[in-house]
Amino acid sequence: KYMSGNELREAYLQFFSEKKGHLRLPSFSLIPKDDPTLLLIGAGMAPLKPFFTGKMKPPRTRVTTSQRCVRTGDIENVGRTARHQTFFEMLGNFSFGDYFKGEAIPWAWEFLTEVVELPKEKLWVTVYPDDEEAIEIWKSQPGFPQDHIVKMEDNFWEIGPGPCGPDSEIYIDLGEERGCGSPDCAVGCDCDRYLEIWNLVFTQYDKQEDGSYANLAHKNIDTGCGLERIASVVQNKKTNFETDLLYPIIEYAANVAGVKYGEDDEKDISLKVIADHARSMAIMIMDGILPSNEGRGYVLRRILRRAIRHGRMLGIKDKFLEGAVDAAVNIYRGAKDFEELINKADYIKKVISIEEDRFAATLNQGMELLNGEIETVKKAGKKELDGQVVFKLYDTFGFPWELTEEILHENELDLDKEGFEKAMEEQRTRARNARAENTRVEVPDLSSIDVSKLTVDETAKEGKVVAIWKD
Ligand code: ATP
Ligand code: MG
Ligand code: MG
Ligand code: MG
Repeated sequence: KYMSGNELREAYLQFFSEKKGHLRLPSFSLIPKDDPTLLLIGAGMAPLKPFFTGKMKPPRTRVTTSQRCVRTGDIENVGRTARHQTFFEMLGNFSFGDYFKGEAIPWAWEFLTEVVELPKEKLWVTVYPDDEEAIEIWKSQPGFPQDHIVKMEDNFWEIGPGPCGPDSEIYIDLGEERGCGSPDCAVGCDCDRYLEIWNLVFTQYDKQEDGSYANLAHKNIDTGCGLERIASVVQNKKTNFETDLLYPIIEYAANVAGVKYGEDDEKDISLKVIADHARSMAIMIMDGILPSNEGRGYVLRRILRRAIRHGRMLGIKDKFLEGAVDAAVNIYRGAKDFEELINKADYIKKVISIEEDRFAATLNQGMELLNGEIETVKKAGKKELDGQVVFKLYDTFGFPWELTEEILHENELDLDKEGFEKAMEEQRTRARNARAENTRVEVPDLSSIDVSKLTVDETAKEGKVVAIWKD
């Protein structure tokens, strides 16, 4: 049965609120509240941690949400796998000491096979090896294909310290033709054949800062179902990017670049990156993040510049991100709980426009530096540009190393990839250390901002503050 992305979200939230007694809550912000262990919310359960641990009393023992999530750890996968974005929505139903496996499993089965009407014979599940209880419950579901259960050692879900436990994941077999062809290809294979759509976590432990596991006072349920993934199945698309939750942005970018989607793999990757990153940046800015050189602001800056780089790789020379954000915002028009995105669209575009201008400026400065360096290398009779210089171009001027490499090749020179990667690794270590410190920021209330009063703070250190508003 065809359902739009917005209809799917609504169907899930209604199923759990109206039929299974859950309190429907709006998505929480991407910025974790009182949780210094996290940079950005990456799972539906993350903002609910205090309810699992018992630190706070939940408004009801059953809650359902569609949580906006950003996983920068998946950034390299974007466009290369069918199923990963940096930004996605995680549908979830949660029990705080209320129901457990005996309800969570049958309800997931009911939603998938009766509401969304997925074919039962194509569904598979994985369980934690000693979880006989979950195996029995799965086997008693109406029409469950009895041999579609796989025991997996790594079926244990945790995200930093906090509530965690053994899990059971639901996959759909998309057919042999989508597989990698390896004789070992089976559930859990990283190729596109078996798509993980839903994870049911039987939360019973509380991981401590020292890495040990304490028992929680009561047993809980935490589930996470990727909206874009289930949409790709229901809409019969090969990737999440072709669903109505992302494709309009691809169409926009393809149109601006004058290319066609589906003709060239590398170009398709760039289009998918732009589509994903446009949604990420819009939602991050909506939640009060501004581009900067540290913490969340750096994540935003990196995503934004990465999108611009992919635009350049497609041959786009002019500014194009505001249009991409318009396309992203339109996707959510009329969807419940997305009024904030619609209302802040002008503000979001203003911030992006300023950063796009700023990057254009550093791109030119970077070009000057690079041209000078090329002269030096040539005069010295060398064949390679030092990795430290490539890193400086990347880090200080936001200069993509792929662009550096291209220009070097035009000059019959090479790039010292090893030295560059070493410098990058050192940078990562610095970033990790910085993240360990408290990087939380105060989020201004942006709902009543007058966009016309936004100006660039030229006196601020590069990257520190991109825009300020004056009253
Ligand atoms: P995968 O193994 O495919 O990377 P995961 O096991 O890391 O997924 P979970 O942490 O179990 O994912 O998150 C719960 C659900 O959220 C997944 O089953 C999937 O539907 C969805 N999801 C996770 N990561 C992404 C992503 N990067 N983009 C889109 N959906 C995602
Ligand atoms: Mg993953
Ligand atoms: Mg997985
Ligand atoms: Mg999983």
